[in-house]
Amino acid sequence: MTETRTISHHAPPPKQHQNGHTTTTATATTTTTAAALDDVFDASCEGKEGPRQQMELVWRNIVLMSLLHIAAVYGLTLVPSTKALTLVWTAVCYTISGLGITAGAHRLWSHRYKASAPLRVFLALANSMAFQNDIYEWARDHRSHHKYSETDADPHNATRGFFFAHVGWLLVRKHPEVIEKGQKLDMSDLKADNVVMFQRRYYLASVVLMCFAVPILVPWWFWGESLTVAYFVPGLFRYALQLNATWLVNSAAHMWGNRPYDISINPRENRVVSFSALGEGFHNYHHTFPFDYSTSEFGWRQNPTSAFIDLMCSLGLASDRKKVSKEIILARMQRTGSGSNKSG
Ligand SMILES: [Zn+2]
Ligand SMILES: [Zn+2]
Repeated sequence: MTETRTISHHAPPPKQHQNGHTTTTATATTTTTAAALDDVFDASCEGKEGPRQQMELVWRNIVLMSLLHIAAVYGLTLVPSTKALTLVWTAVCYTISGLGITAGAHRLWSHRYKASAPLRVFLALANSMAFQNDIYEWARDHRSHHKYSETDADPHNATRGFFFAHVGWLLVRKHPEVIEKGQKLDMSDLKADNVVMFQRRYYLASVVLMCFAVPILVPWWFWGESLTVAYFVPGLFRYALQLNATWLVNSAAHMWGNRPYDISINPRENRVVSFSALGEGFHNYHHTFPFDYSTSEFGWRQNPTSAFIDLMCSLGLASDRKKVSKEIILARMQRTGSGSNKSG
């Protein structure tokens, strides 16, 4: 069960919408359930943006995020006095928690390839290590981000500026449109996934264990790292770095880079983001073809998450990877791209 499904049929011409977005219904012929379309752009939100909502600050989050980032900067100053093994451990925790987001919450649970129970358990634990809301909430927000991209119903609407798209959206109450439209998304696939619902039920305990206890106590217990260094370097510094790497996909990759696949949308190809976010910076491609498991035209290039998923498939732990054919990609580039490829 390691097949890759290549999407090679002819897609109908894209619909051009008022705000310049284009959508293709190419996915409709490969996936037939309503749920399978909930990560594809939907123009129904367009033209409804009223006056900007009065922003209601969430002071608890503002204080916690500020403290975290101060602690992370302090952790950075401790790096020179950190044991080499602890630095390796920090990189390991960064990679595992990164995969919990990229291979887990994003590509598996938001965009759907198939993973066996052991792999889903690993990815759920890795996801708790990243502490970015539970999988169900992360995937619901992310499907809204694709379906209602850059409207009020997009949780981190990048038209509201870099800071809002990066972290500001987590520091204010959600826009009513985000809540209303988010509730209408079909999340039945995740409700039927026992691993996802178990992680949601015991989320806080899993975060205490995976995001804090394991990264901090392992270097202290096994090679005698000081508890202070373990707390601030593989603990808080690694956590804050991972958060910012993920947030850059929503901020930087919606602002800076090429648009070889669809020039009418804001998401872009951004190499820096691909590097920090384990291959998630091919964002013009990803918003154009959200169902492609690789989120990129270029396979493993700058894309360790795709290499990980391919490895899992070769071990029989994952399957049903959807990939867009070269012909479809080329046709789409000629039709809607900027003519500025070679971005990978
Ligand atoms: Zn995006
Ligand atoms: Zn996505």
